[in-house]
Amino acid sequence: MRRTAKELDASVDGLVARCRAAGMNMTPQRLGIYRALLESYDHPSPEALYDRVRSQMPSISLATIYKTLDTLVELGFASELPSVGDTKRYDANMEHHHHLVCRSCNAVEDFEDEALSAVKAPRRLNGFQPEYVSIHVHGLCRRCSQAKA
Ligand SMILES: [Zn+2]
Ligand SMILES: [Zn+2]
Repeated sequence: MRRTAKELDASVDGLVARCRAAGMNMTPQRLGIYRALLESYDHPSPEALYDRVRSQMPSISLATIYKTLDTLVELGFASELPSVGDTKRYDANMEHHHHLVCRSCNAVEDFEDEALSAVKAPRRLNGFQPEYVSIHVHGLCRRCSQAKA
């Protein structure tokens, strides 16, 4: 599901308010990175995000991308996906959802499904405290499965 311009602005405003409340400095660069993440639906790696924001902010560094993504995760505005491929991947969709993960091209797509969302964590988790269950369905994306056919 694509975010509307209005939803995008609301998310950015939310981040600005959250930072202000926390006494944190929100730079235009950080906001630009957050906006680029909100406009990305492929769960980009820091490197992919860097390529996207560099066209608008040529002076930005990859280190700033890493630091900003860490901050966004800390503030609860983004999450880091459990490992997919060999680089970290980030998600600005904080609604409860699931993922379709392609083992060939490492594409990650959001997936919403009532049956999956109804799945409860098992009661015995060896002392682990569950917060939510997010399911990764692994396989081949449409493009990769068509390429193999
Ligand atoms: Zn694929
Ligand atoms: Zn996602």
